[in-house]
Amino acid sequence: MTDPIDQLSDVDEALNLVHEAASRFLASLPERPVRPPSAELIAPTLGGTLPEDGDGTLAAVRELIDAGTDAAIGSAGGRFFHFVVGGATPAALAAEWLTAALDQNTGMWAASPFGAGMEVVAVDWLKQLFGLPASWGGVLVTGGTMANYVGLTAARRWWALQHDVDIDEDGWTGLPCLPVFGSGLIHASSVKALGMLGIGRRCVTTLTRDSVGRIDLEALESALESLRGAPAVIVATAGEPNAGDFDPVRKIVDLARAHNAWVHVDGAFGLFARLSPSTSDLVAGLDEADSAASDGHKWLNVPHDCGFAFVRDEGLLRGAFGSSAAYYVGGGVDQPNFALMAPESSRKARAFAVWATLRAYGRGGYQAMVERHVGLAKRVAQRVDEADDLERLADVQLNVVCFRYRPAGVPEDELDGLNQRLGEAVLADGRVYVGTTTYGGRVAFRPAIVNYRSTEADVDLLIDVIRELGASLVMAQHHR
Ligand SMILES: *Cc1c(COP(=O)(O)O)cnc(C)c1O
Repeated sequence: MTDPIDQLSDVDEALNLVHEAASRFLASLPERPVRPPSAELIAPTLGGTLPEDGDGTLAAVRELIDAGTDAAIGSAGGRFFHFVVGGATPAALAAEWLTAALDQNTGMWAASPFGAGMEVVAVDWLKQLFGLPASWGGVLVTGGTMANYVGLTAARRWWALQHDVDIDEDGWTGLPCLPVFGSGLIHASSVKALGMLGIGRRCVTTLTRDSVGRIDLEALESALESLRGAPAVIVATAGEPNAGDFDPVRKIVDLARAHNAWVHVDGAFGLFARLSPSTSDLVAGLDEADSAASDGHKWLNVPHDCGFAFVRDEGLLRGAFGSSAAYYVGGGVDQPNFALMAPESSRKARAFAVWATLRAYGRGGYQAMVERHVGLAKRVAQRVDEADDLERLADVQLNVVCFRYRPAGVPEDELDGLNQRLGEAVLADGRVYVGTTTYGGRVAFRPAIVNYRSTEADVDLLIDVIRELGASLVMAQHHR
């Protein structure tokens, strides 16, 4: 029997093992395949019957180190372009280790004045980073999905109060259906949040003017007009994952103000366009919206999981997430109980990594990184345009490039199948990692550049691997 208290003396050794292994793993990132051959094989071997007698600290930690450093996907490295997944800056990574060691619970001010106080600081710095008014409220959550959930929870509360109902106290009693509008760019996680909120996934009306889902502002205006002053919610997507496209936030806000609508901006990675004068116009009008969501584990490059929700009227957060228990204490504007302003009650100190990376690199460092990534995206686009077997499907607005493999001699109706198979081949190959999507009805690649480690050599390899594997697929087809 191994009661953990008997193993206190192994703490140092266990942490040293992790430090050594992490150093080796991180040093191997530039060389190791993004997808190791063992990626799917190891986890099942670690399960089975729950052990009755433990192996002890060091044996367990060694087993996890061996398995993890072998089977991990190299998403921490510079050649992972799938989904939108950032790495962890040196300062953020170190701060995250400290977060676990200090193990602060930031739900209640009294549980950790330092942890909760640092969240106040981190939220303030993030508002400065994104150019949001200091008067807005904000909380750290687990990611973009929960940030959308928080923003839409505040929206739902505002909407119900317009109907004289406190929905968070009394539920839906007598309320009509909540009208939600968006473009076809609306992210799956916003729709998921609408489901979690009981508003219903199907209740969002998407108003689109083209095959890739860009917003039809005239249709939005008539939809709002037809409500005759009844309140509504609009989800504006600032940076969508297929092509890095943006809804026109300012125009949407103008329509919302002329009618009676709340504007929630989902800028999971797109909010970072605000960091450079050359891209900040993409999110013009953000500060006039009502709520906004962004992600830490994407472009801020802090470890998973971390997201940020901002709401113009902080009181709505307290109204929506407030709760009481006999042993809850304190909590005021200066000493917030974040458990009463956010979905999670007990919560880790996400602020430490956020603070450390902003302290370490500053606004200037992040501006430089964002601009470097935009430059890398333009380089990918240029290589696509120069290649006679690649076709770009969208303008590059920020850090996502949408294109497909289109070699001469392959008929249009075979291209989707070819790109699908090529996508699978690229993932299995493992030198680079990038996903496919359907864009305007065509199967396409959509590399997103968000990792601070990514270099020109990395994006060049991405193009080279796609063309090389594409050519062998076409060859194999011909020789069948
Ligand atoms: C990634 C993303 C989300 C969801 O964020 P998670 O951190 O995965 O929860 C929401 N919206 C957009 C536009 C995204 O790109």
